[in-house]
Amino acid sequence: MLKVTNTLTGNKEPFTPINPPEVKMYVCGPTVYGDIHIGNARSQVNFDVIRKYLIYSGYKVTYVVNITDIDDKIIKKSIEEKKEAKEIAENYTQAYFKVMEKLGVQKADFHPKATEFIPDMIGLIAGLIEKGHAYVVPSTDLGKDVLFDSTTFKTYGKLSGKNLEELQEGARVEKNEAKKSPIDFVLWKASKPGEPQWDSPWGKGRPGWHIECSTMVRKILGDSIDIHGGGVDLIFPHHENEIAQCEGFTEKPYVKYWLHNGFIEISGQKMSKSLGNIWKAKAALADYRPEVLRYFFLSAHYRSGLNYDQDILEANKRGWEEFNLTFQRVEEALNSPPVDYPMDLLELRLAIDEVEAKFKEAMDDDFNTPKATAALFDLARETRRVLSQTPRVSVGAKSLLGEALDKLNLLGGILGIVTAERVSIPKEVEELAQARVQMKKDRKFKEADEIRAKVMEMGFIIEDVQGGQFRILPKK
Ligand SMILES: [Zn+2]
Repeated sequence: MLKVTNTLTGNKEPFTPINPPEVKMYVCGPTVYGDIHIGNARSQVNFDVIRKYLIYSGYKVTYVVNITDIDDKIIKKSIEEKKEAKEIAENYTQAYFKVMEKLGVQKADFHPKATEFIPDMIGLIAGLIEKGHAYVVPSTDLGKDVLFDSTTFKTYGKLSGKNLEELQEGARVEKNEAKKSPIDFVLWKASKPGEPQWDSPWGKGRPGWHIECSTMVRKILGDSIDIHGGGVDLIFPHHENEIAQCEGFTEKPYVKYWLHNGFIEISGQKMSKSLGNIWKAKAALADYRPEVLRYFFLSAHYRSGLNYDQDILEANKRGWEEFNLTFQRVEEALNSPPVDYPMDLLELRLAIDEVEAKFKEAMDDDFNTPKATAALFDLARETRRVLSQTPRVSVGAKSLLGEALDKLNLLGGILGIVTAERVSIPKEVEELAQARVQMKKDRKFKEADEIRAKVMEMGFIIEDVQGGQFRILPKK
């Protein structure tokens, strides 16, 4: 049975959706004011895998990832670049989808944009005022602010494990004198002249970030959902505030399971503008295959931090390439005429039989992707072992290798670490390797070595196998 670690309780709990087999799942998406960094990309890959695994497990998942297309950061950027906020948001939304597609992150069932739900946000804010959870304060010439009154929500702090009194004492003194309590947060913000604005009962303004997510969740998925995910940095205040808004209004539990993924660190340091070590997903994709990046992201448990440095990623790349080579070798063997001698296939049979159970056991344990990946790599290794002596195999081996490939495609597809792309060997390389076989027969070893060196320069390695045969591999 699937167990998930729930930030709300701090426990690993059996996963029992509200209305099985339906699973309603919402993950906080990007604020579109710049290109996303690999930390954001990792988060989306983590939840993409979780979604795909839930579907594989038989759940009917409705998956929502929002786009925050109105926010202070977008407005700031629009002033810097002298463009409309709308244009900034549109451009970076497209850039985001491009990166997601490249990374093999499947589109969500819904990608709501905050600006398409303004009337619903206004409705929810009005409802919160009516219920005594929010209050209106004067702000700009154009309108008033609406703030959430945190003290009216008795369990405020339950997600982050913070207590209301401590929070109030610890909160830094804000300039906003109008706040009843320093931890009250903005639901509606009055606009300044020239800023994006919408009409509301409180004048011209725009919604706060937290109310955006709460509204889109309720509008698309309903009052109570199964899974809400996001980065660990969103626990407080973003998700804490989402709970206060929704539960304050509906008086129903908002989210059953809160899942949060860890950060990526760069050589042991947090990515930050001041350190100048922000690694954009676009740049990462220019240097590495998406499957390699996914393999790297999944090499740590999603809740854990993940450390990047060049050596670690290069090691991941080599590991993945070896894994990927399995597919090529098996396909070669399946396309070659069979041999008629028997082969020892017991270990491969066992590896095939246990891979899915091992994979499931790992993923059922709070989506333990490092263990799940290891199960696939074990099977891949055994498969390559069978093929290590000869590229040609018996009829029985062919059938087993086909089975192994099916399993690797099925389960590797959930993780998104398999690709249909194969390395194609240029004809010239093939011919040189053929010519080398004859040279070796003629004991022209010097010439044979020269050919091997030449092929190496062309980016390929000739590997000798049994019976004077050879295999060509891409150089790492
Ligand atoms: Zn959110």
